[in-house]
Amino acid sequence: MVWVLNLLKLISFFCLFVSLVQAKVSSLADRPDWSELNEFQKKWTKEQFESTLRNLYCPRESWWKPWIDLDENHVRIKKANEKDAWYKLNFADSDTEVPNEVSFPTSLKKMKIALDPGHLGGAFSEMEGRHFSIGNDKPVKEGDLTLEVALKTKVLLEAEGAEVFVTRNVGEPVTEKREWDFMVEAESWISQRSLNPPFTSSAEREKMIRKRREMLFYRVSEIYARSTLLQERFQPDLTICIHLNAAPWRDPDNPQLVERNDYHVLVNGCYMGGELAYENQRFEMLKRLLNGWGKFEQKSAESMALAFSEVTKLPAFVYKGPNALKIGKVDGVWARNLLANRIYPGPVIFLEPYVANSVEVYHRLRPEYDKETNKSINRLLPPLTDEYAQAILLGIKSMFQELQPSTISSGNLPP
Ligand SMILES: [Zn+2]
Repeated sequence: MVWVLNLLKLISFFCLFVSLVQAKVSSLADRPDWSELNEFQKKWTKEQFESTLRNLYCPRESWWKPWIDLDENHVRIKKANEKDAWYKLNFADSDTEVPNEVSFPTSLKKMKIALDPGHLGGAFSEMEGRHFSIGNDKPVKEGDLTLEVALKTKVLLEAEGAEVFVTRNVGEPVTEKREWDFMVEAESWISQRSLNPPFTSSAEREKMIRKRREMLFYRVSEIYARSTLLQERFQPDLTICIHLNAAPWRDPDNPQLVERNDYHVLVNGCYMGGELAYENQRFEMLKRLLNGWGKFEQKSAESMALAFSEVTKLPAFVYKGPNALKIGKVDGVWARNLLANRIYPGPVIFLEPYVANSVEVYHRLRPEYDKETNKSINRLLPPLTDEYAQAILLGIKSMFQELQPSTISSGNLPP
């Protein structure tokens, strides 16, 4: 009988193992409900679908090929890793008129704009790694600056008649979870990893678990909470994620300000092979593609990039690696797959102007900057967060000067 019990144990272990393999989802994500995509049956032609996939969501065929099987009349997307678990989406006939038109707002009046101040700032800025200080100066906290920008932008946009929602109004998390709520997840994450070289001490292992726990709190859980808030409380026409960029330190033990200062704007796209290996990310990509949000994101991002160029006079940042894809002809507009721009409901753009640890920005952020104490800056610029808010306003306003007529086709993004 013992061998029967052992066999049963082995079988149940195997079943558990298979179900874990099948349900490969990102941290804290649920398995998706693929039937949510049913409303898009026969709404997209093959040409529209394929060009949007290749030109925005996944530029390398080898990245999507294992999961997406394109046919003449339909596309099959692998759901879980089990055999024959595919979602089948039928294409519209290419010779019929496709009612593939998505309505987007045409004026700032009554437009529902969500402003999402990136990170938490305040007491959390060091934990989230969005904090630096030089000597005895007051530290720079990205999460405090993004909140200041969001609150100033809200006033400007509301004066133009827009309906504005800010995801957080203080330096506090939206999520009710804290790092200690992720003990189990962090422990299982680390035990699934075979590190090379392995940990040299248990202190090193503990440190890595702590970092993982904290990240699940301040980033993953927080972004999920904000996504739920946007879905339940606001349902925006456009969400603007407000950030400031930072350059890596040459020597982290002896931080020296950098010369580089630039801007860029992100839309959702450029899913890489490793990301598409997650069931939820395949689903989320498809959902964004089929909703046609990419077209509006590109339009908004281009308008915003032009506004930042004009207002800040900074050069556009250029990505070098495969994790970002240049889209359109306007400098500084790129596609990247980030948690917030993937899971927030509706079109999302991500602003990354200013390098916070550059000589110019750092001095503009000093409290004594107004008194023109720094002689290396030859022009006295307005307070940085005012300038940032003005650039957003200009970007939104100029968006509607070209966005006519009231609907634009959601397929066939320009190459
Ligand atoms: Zn940021």
